[in-house]
Amino acid sequence: MEQLRSYADDRLISGCVYCGGPEETREHVPSRVFLDKPLPENLPVLGACWSCNNGFSKDEEYVACLIASVIAGSTDPDQIGRPAVANILRRTPALRARIESAKCDQNGRTQFGVEPDRVRNIVLKLARGHAAFELGLPVREEPNSLWWHPLELMAKDERDSFDACEMVRIFGEVGSRGLQRLQVAQLTLQPADGQMSTLELLINDWVNVQDERYRYLAIDDGDEVRIKFIISEYLACQVTWTS
Ligand SMILES: [Zn+2]
Repeated sequence: MEQLRSYADDRLISGCVYCGGPEETREHVPSRVFLDKPLPENLPVLGACWSCNNGFSKDEEYVACLIASVIAGSTDPDQIGRPAVANILRRTPALRARIESAKCDQNGRTQFGVEPDRVRNIVLKLARGHAAFELGLPVREEPNSLWWHPLELMAKDERDSFDACEMVRIFGEVGSRGLQRLQVAQLTLQPADGQMSTLELLINDWVNVQDERYRYLAIDDGDEVRIKFIISEYLACQVTWTS
């Protein structure tokens, strides 16, 4: 993926991006467990403390295995489409058993129960990482809203509006990666009885980290920071902080 240098004030995001503690390690956002090999070049990297870095890894494996199991309709590693996730299920039978135990049949369809605290933990972590990397904003406070939903279960208009790019009203911090990614679109208006005029709009489009695996959109419209991402083209997630 295209790597942009941040010209934002990085002092804002010094230290662990999640808790503000010491920066003891660097980690990828999104985490590698949500991507396939070969990994895209120039993955976003942020500083984190050991405690946060280790604290998320079990829940990340859970979320990655859960999504792959839901897509496959099975926790059987041989049925799982992603080799790295199949390997996690092979080497951690306890995790496989836990996901398997939450499996049930509903109207002839295989469903999996979800451990919401674990999913929430990872959705929030990913959103904080994207806000820091893309917008140069540390958002360590609790969000005003956080949800996730399978794309395929969203109504068409809901899905279209989630999927759309955003028109930007107010700019993020000058120099942030998000601002550099904006594309300028020109719209020519010609009223029936008036002069032609040209309107310039800024389009904030999705950042595709890896086809079919992960994409995100980070929005800072002045009043609100909104992070949207889709994991495996299956799970749509949105986290919002309102100022
Ligand atoms: Zn930390």
